[in-house]
Amino acid sequence: MINKIPKHLKIVIIFFSFLMCILIIVKIKNDTNPQKILEEKKEQIYNLIDKTIFVDVSKYTIYGTHFNIEGTLDIVKISGIKINNVDLCLRDLEGKEYSIKSNFNIQDNLVSFSTTEKINEGLDLENLPINNYYVLLKVTFSNSDVKYYSLKNSSEYKDLTYYTITKNQTNNKIDISFKQSKNLQYMNLVVEKAVSLPDNVYDIAIDPGHGGKDKGAKSGDYTEAELVLKCGLDLKTKLENLGFKVFISRDGTENQSEDTANNMYNENGRVNILNNSHAKILLSLHLNEYNYSKKTGGVEVYAPCNCNLDFASKIAENIVNTANTHYSELKTFKVQEGVYVRNFNNADILAFTSRAQKNGYEPYNITTSTPYLYIIRETGGISTGAFVDGRNTSYGKNTNYNSNVGIESYQIELGYMKIEEDLNNIVNNYDKYMEAIANAVLQFAN
Ligand SMILES: [Zn+2]
Repeated sequence: MINKIPKHLKIVIIFFSFLMCILIIVKIKNDTNPQKILEEKKEQIYNLIDKTIFVDVSKYTIYGTHFNIEGTLDIVKISGIKINNVDLCLRDLEGKEYSIKSNFNIQDNLVSFSTTEKINEGLDLENLPINNYYVLLKVTFSNSDVKYYSLKNSSEYKDLTYYTITKNQTNNKIDISFKQSKNLQYMNLVVEKAVSLPDNVYDIAIDPGHGGKDKGAKSGDYTEAELVLKCGLDLKTKLENLGFKVFISRDGTENQSEDTANNMYNENGRVNILNNSHAKILLSLHLNEYNYSKKTGGVEVYAPCNCNLDFASKIAENIVNTANTHYSELKTFKVQEGVYVRNFNNADILAFTSRAQKNGYEPYNITTSTPYLYIIRETGGISTGAFVDGRNTSYGKNTNYNSNVGIESYQIELGYMKIEEDLNNIVNNYDKYMEAIANAVLQFAN
């Protein structure tokens, strides 16, 4: 039959068949082009967002392993229509939404939100699946309308990169940034596998207290500085054996004439080197000297204020169970068995303020919710109200004092050096204390 078709028509049919094939191939290629699919998915989110107003982000922080945002949205008033519900969410490119637990306050048409009341809660960056997320404020109105609003950076802070704690020798990298697409500004979280951890980024930091000239507490021939160094080095090995990348603020090779009691804010002082470790958790190891009121020893874990105390509690519990010791009986600043929160009280604030006036510098902005222990306060950035910013000229400058990224820090007082039972136990079984802490970290990181 085909033979009956005139030759020129055959050529036309073959040509068009060929053209059709090309068109089909091009279409299939286009439909499966990852870049094009991505653009289409982005377009879908773009179309979903109300472009008339933005959410103003006034503050965003990372403290330890958690991310938090604060902001406001001023919705144009429509008579008779009220706001029924507000939800801060992450929306991925597949359209899946993850709600971020937040507190909302609606006054007239101004919506204010904050993701947490506790600095170590909020969005858990450690368990965020690999994906590309848009942070959106979802508002449901009384007429059943649902609108999505995108986030605009009205704070002084810049884009952030976070690396998750090493698990099975791998890390995720999370880029938190504000982006602009056409006339839309939005907050974007991109979670991807990290090729490797940068040299200057650690999982855990250990700070054996004192050192150099400063020997800390003493008992007989023993010094706190020497005992906590032994503990710190042992903890480092244990954590490294568990697969963590560990930074230690001193390893015994430091200059013995170094004035560590006064140089913590210097360029190479412990505050700055710890901040520069970009660790998620900091464990500062110390020993008390004598418990005057009780004449008994025991363990005390000092936690940051305004913080979920589960991890602090786990550290204390593990030490008591593993190292055959007990919780301290000290009542001052105690918030749970073995867990203490020491903030500035009014008398401390008065003393600090008058010292500032006497020495001619501006008083620090201390409140009764500012942590008193400098290692906890100064490594947490704005989350813990770090304040050593060079106004007190007798100190150096904490270069991280105004940072929105902070390390979740704990000061662990392992026991009392002048209580014989404690001293013997620490000298002979320090590795048990460290095994307990390492296990608490392992539980925390998983
Ligand atoms: Zn100490």
